[in-house]
Amino acid sequence: MTQNETLEQFCSFCGRTEKQVGTLIKHQDGIAICDVCVEHAHQIVALSRGGRRSRTVGDFPPPKEMKSKLDEYVIGQEDAKRKICVAVYNHYKRINGSDLMADVELEKANILLIGPTGTGKTFLAQTMARFLQVPFAIADATTLTEAGYVGEDVENVLVRLLQAADYDVAWAEMGIVYIDEIDKISRRDSNVSITRDVSGEGVQQALLKILEGTMASLPPQGGRKHPEQKLIQMNTRNILFMCGGAFEGLDKIVRRRVDQRPMGFGATGSHRKRSEEVLSQVSFEDLHTFGLIPELIGRLPVISALEPLSEDALMKILTEPRNAILKQYKHLFEMEGVTLTFEDAALKKVISLAQKRKTGARALRSIIEEALTDILFEIPSRKDVQEVIVSAATVEKHEPPRLVLAERKKIA
Ligand code: ADP
Repeated sequence: MTQNETLEQFCSFCGRTEKQVGTLIKHQDGIAICDVCVEHAHQIVALSRGGRRSRTVGDFPPPKEMKSKLDEYVIGQEDAKRKICVAVYNHYKRINGSDLMADVELEKANILLIGPTGTGKTFLAQTMARFLQVPFAIADATTLTEAGYVGEDVENVLVRLLQAADYDVAWAEMGIVYIDEIDKISRRDSNVSITRDVSGEGVQQALLKILEGTMASLPPQGGRKHPEQKLIQMNTRNILFMCGGAFEGLDKIVRRRVDQRPMGFGATGSHRKRSEEVLSQVSFEDLHTFGLIPELIGRLPVISALEPLSEDALMKILTEPRNAILKQYKHLFEMEGVTLTFEDAALKKVISLAQKRKTGARALRSIIEEALTDILFEIPSRKDVQEVIVSAATVEKHEPPRLVLAERKKIA
């Protein structure tokens, strides 16, 4: 019986049946290939090219211009934006071969971003990678473990970058990796496990290796390495790492140190500094006291403290950037031929509710989404609405917004 005669067709490569795969691409002769095998084939071809398609980072502007571009998307966080632009500019200048002084080797300047949740740490890294059009990957430090333990190997971070680079190894080697929640893998003396330090020093040590530059061997699919598996070699020397975390309690450590100085009055003085002002003075030893190992801190020489977002900043984030949340929703309504209007009081209500949630700008989207869900459900089926006017009550109590009906309908 030929494959044509069987009721169900299967992949000629792996034998999975049509039901077991997402897509089965069929040839008229009865042979077929499934989506999983296509993906595999793609990887094999990419790797057989030696992964060396020698793409380079294109033209990138000097730090000042880079920052004004960043300003179109990221509100506030001046210090972080400046430091990131300088670090990124020098980094790519160095790896693009503009560093002609052969006897002076510029060291890589990885970046540490300290600041409350939802203030733009990940967004900064992401936006930067998008401008430069380099591969980008995000990892959560809390899911990482040392090799051999349950959890994700630190090297999986690199696998993700490789995937973002479409398996072009040389291209991935020029990428940016953002590691979130780096503060959660701090060594806590009170929490030492007898068997091993589950989420502490071991992970920091493993991260340290890839941060400083190593030749890593990666399983192409991620996950655990198998002895018979072909591994991909990837050099992390030119990968730029940005690490971020809220570092709760770090301000107290800095304050304590600063207040100990003979001239420092700090808490006893008339002006008690805000946490973010204190954090801008964070030192190597403060981070060490917090629980990061000295070698890791040493590999994160550019440090910036991000500010909690003020009401003013939240309002700007909501309305101003190129892809501001409000613009996105307006666009969504526009596609239905409807104008979306927020009264001033409604916008202010969004901001005050967001402040209460303490999740930074993250709260903005969910508050708007919650307020508009019902009308978003209804609008596509109604052809008589011209404008939707959102009041503070719609935002706070989810009362229906006011609808302005189209002229034609009103007369009818
Ligand atoms: P975190 O500091 O926790 O990494 P994110 O960068 O993930 O926070 O921020 C969540 C979202 O909030 C971003 O995707 C972005 O849309 C918005 N956002 C946060 N901070 C800013 C900012 N300073 N400017 C513009 N948008 C911001």
